[in-house]
Amino acid sequence: MMLAYMDRAAAAAEPEDAGEPAAVAAGCAAATDFGGLVSAMPAAVVRPASADDVANAIRAAALTAGLTVAARGNGHSVAGQATAEGGLVLDMRALALSRRPQMQLVGCPGGGGPCFADVPGGALWEEVLHWGVKTHGLAPASWTDYLRLTVGGTLSNGGVSGQSFRYGPQVSNVAELEVVTGNGECRVCSPSSHPDLFFAVLGGLGQFGVITRARIPLRRAPQQVRWARVVYASFAEYTADAEWLVTRPPDAAFDYVEGFAFVNSDDPVNGWPSVPIPGGARFDPALLPAGAGPVLYCLEVALYRYPDDEDKAAAVSRMMAPLKHVRGLEFAADVGYVDFLSRVNRVEEEARRNGSWDAPHPWLNLFVSARDIADFDRAVIKGMLADGIDGPMLVYPMLKSKWDPNTSVALPEGEIFYLVALLRFCRGGGPAVDELVAQNGAILRACRANGYDHKAYFPSYRGEAEWARHFGAARWRRFVERKARYDPLAILAPGQKIFPRAPASVAVQL
Ligand code: FAD
Repeated sequence: MMLAYMDRAAAAAEPEDAGEPAAVAAGCAAATDFGGLVSAMPAAVVRPASADDVANAIRAAALTAGLTVAARGNGHSVAGQATAEGGLVLDMRALALSRRPQMQLVGCPGGGGPCFADVPGGALWEEVLHWGVKTHGLAPASWTDYLRLTVGGTLSNGGVSGQSFRYGPQVSNVAELEVVTGNGECRVCSPSSHPDLFFAVLGGLGQFGVITRARIPLRRAPQQVRWARVVYASFAEYTADAEWLVTRPPDAAFDYVEGFAFVNSDDPVNGWPSVPIPGGARFDPALLPAGAGPVLYCLEVALYRYPDDEDKAAAVSRMMAPLKHVRGLEFAADVGYVDFLSRVNRVEEEARRNGSWDAPHPWLNLFVSARDIADFDRAVIKGMLADGIDGPMLVYPMLKSKWDPNTSVALPEGEIFYLVALLRFCRGGGPAVDELVAQNGAILRACRANGYDHKAYFPSYRGEAEWARHFGAARWRRFVERKARYDPLAILAPGQKIFPRAPASVAVQL
């Protein structure tokens, strides 16, 4: 049964609250997203209870001139990617919550064979974690930093965190998908069955189908995590150590490597206080070398501990001994595995308290090749962002060989590339949001002008020429061919602004 309710565009005619987009004022969450920069009122929000409901909505859209369909995960995009102006928004959380049981264990024969979780596309990674660990002592290997994101939403982009260098991104950790294509067909696909559809959908920005179910490999869940942070004044030493760590053989590697830039000041959000971890020591700036610049760097590592393992503190100290960080600025704690993976919930709680969670988020995420990251640091981090961004400035490496080139994700050329995530939180009294959006544009232009080997992660472009440049000639050709094959009317994910909805006269199999 399909449950649908209408948040008619007419509702937007209600008087606007000062400072709020019309759609927000009208109470239609599906008209905007976490970014809070875009307002696009849908004709209706559909709450599917099954893959058939998703197929029916897509088929209905195919028969209605100009109608589009956007799957909405948890709406944590920042540029309207899950919106559909005048179209149908599929609330994928409804599909997840209506499925009983929500998750299912697959495989796991007594002999210790591979185990998988079958999870709905609209499940939160947090739900997958709690179910896996509590019910079966099992968990996926690859995560995002924040887990209140949906499985379908991150698989449509990439899904990265400190585990990516070792275990691959989330798009490299999927065994099978159930997808409803833009043709209204429900297909189960995998690397061996309909592989072209499987790889198209992974990192496919929602363009080729709606993920209604994903089969995620599971492994034994660690019990505890030894979590450590160290500080650098030199970017060259920071990147040399980070790249050494992510290229260690598995038996000598951490399970997680991340890092961030921060301001050399006592600013509570941007400066020294952002470094110590819960239960860790105080940041003593007297330990910084004379001549340390305005920007410092923090490398963050974690090693998992399983129930029958010894304490990991000594192992972590040994593994970190060759690093060239500032001695004395070391922070470490032992935390439970679920607590470690849920660490960003504390950031969310604080941001909700101070109002910055519901304020706009002009975020910018980039992948920048190791070849150009030192120049990027000089021109952008030290050159444009030396006062901080009122939120984390993540800068950490991962390996291209952990990504399957058949997926739709666009990556830089080099084997080692950095995630640069400018996660701006707008607190009252800071720069105007327009200025921050303009600064993001200036950073992208600087990357292009300086010829950096880079790609936008969560790209937001307008028009074919920009998208073709993003993908590069060969990958763009493949992206366009896949679109013609799986969504010829360009019904799906209109908020990405890649393909205009085609007139219904184009042939479509229904
Ligand atoms: P939405 O924003 O709802 O959707 C994103 C896109 O995917 C849209 O185009 C939508 O149409 C499409 N889509 C959604 N569901 C489906 C589906 N079932 N089938 C097909 N298409 C679908 N990302 C990382 O990689 N690593 C991080 O550590 C990380 N941390 C974050 C922390 C915060 C606080 C926030 C707000 C975001 C973070 N992200 C991170 C970004 C996140 O991965 C993206 O926002 C992503 O879009 C997932 O969010 P969502 O599930 O809400 O999807």
